[in-house]
Amino acid sequence: MSSYESAERYFNHAAEVMGLSDNMGKLLKTPQREVKVQIAIEMDDGLIGTFIGYRIQHNKARGPMKGGLRFHPEVDGDEVLALASLMTWKTAVVNIPYGGAKGGISVDTSALSHRELESITRKFVDEIHDIFGPDTDIPAPDMGTNSQIMAWIMNQYEKYHGYNPACVTGKPVELHGADGREEATGRGVAIVTKAAMTKLKKPVEGARVAIQGFGNVGSFAASILHKMGAKIVAVSDAFGGIQNQDGLDIPELLKHMEKHKKVEEFEGSEPIDNAGLFAADVDVLIPAAIGGVLTKENADDVRAKLIVEAANNPTTSEADYILERKGILVVPDILANAGGVTVSYFEWVQNRQHFSWELEEVRKRLEKIMTTAFDRVWKVAEEKKVSPRIAAYVLGIGRVGRATVLGGI
Ligand code: GLU
Repeated sequence: MSSYESAERYFNHAAEVMGLSDNMGKLLKTPQREVKVQIAIEMDDGLIGTFIGYRIQHNKARGPMKGGLRFHPEVDGDEVLALASLMTWKTAVVNIPYGGAKGGISVDTSALSHRELESITRKFVDEIHDIFGPDTDIPAPDMGTNSQIMAWIMNQYEKYHGYNPACVTGKPVELHGADGREEATGRGVAIVTKAAMTKLKKPVEGARVAIQGFGNVGSFAASILHKMGAKIVAVSDAFGGIQNQDGLDIPELLKHMEKHKKVEEFEGSEPIDNAGLFAADVDVLIPAAIGGVLTKENADDVRAKLIVEAANNPTTSEADYILERKGILVVPDILANAGGVTVSYFEWVQNRQHFSWELEEVRKRLEKIMTTAFDRVWKVAEEKKVSPRIAAYVLGIGRVGRATVLGGI
């Protein structure tokens, strides 16, 4: 089942619960603009490399469109469209003044040199510079992209439109990025994990956690949850997984990662595969890597009581209904991983004011936004007697729908 099909099913379910008219449903599902470009660069060996880039601008009813750029071999139009729509609902769920967009390039960055990566990024900006900017659509990092790539985007954009750091977020702190942006998605995940555990009447201290994915999101989520007293018993990355039933020493694991660039062979750990990780005897399972990993094939094996979706679209809708039937609480992606775009918003605000905030200010405001959104979603779930996922869609679609009607068709 594709990520587009899953996202559409969630939308339809929420639309039904809300009694949304077919016409409004159609309007809200249809993207504003879809751009697909060719990116041709000279590779290091002198040959021509040709890549396809996308930017899909889904909805702008609540403000400039916002969303990351993904550099990954599996990037295609369907996936980008699904992810762009998730951004529309996500920014609405946390109530920040943006619409939604997403983009990416179908490329395996591990096969590129630093120079090739820079060329591809700059060429992509050459192709799309006239459709993004601080008041229209603001890109940010996602899988396969980072602050260095955002710095190149800002620099290339400047060549066409003049200096304007608010044209992209997730930049290096030295180039007007926000302190706390890098940890933001992981921190948001930890904040909602704690809020959800409270609803389950269990403390986060001593909770057993398994995390699939140990990149930017997974590693910060692990380290912040570890500081909150949780026991991270299993983690995995693209190369393999590790476990320790007494809890992994996360600060030491981060040092190991820096040196070896993978979690495998960490001292005092045993190997575990992804199937084992998903079926681990834990309180909390956190998918923090690619989409579509929890499927109808493995959903029945899950033993966690709580799933917190740090990744975008990690659960197919078939798996979602199995998890719901099993009574597993799922904190959906459009709430759980919204910490990243929230601090992107803080970065954009700071850039526009040419005034930077202290890290503590960023963290305090992030906590407030995430807990408020969590409570709102929970309330809608109770009122409408639906899962937190459908409640989050109801909340997000409702806000975008009202803004659309108020603005006028
Ligand atoms: N790529 C992140 C997401 O999926 C962050 C987007 C942003 O900061 O604009 O939410």
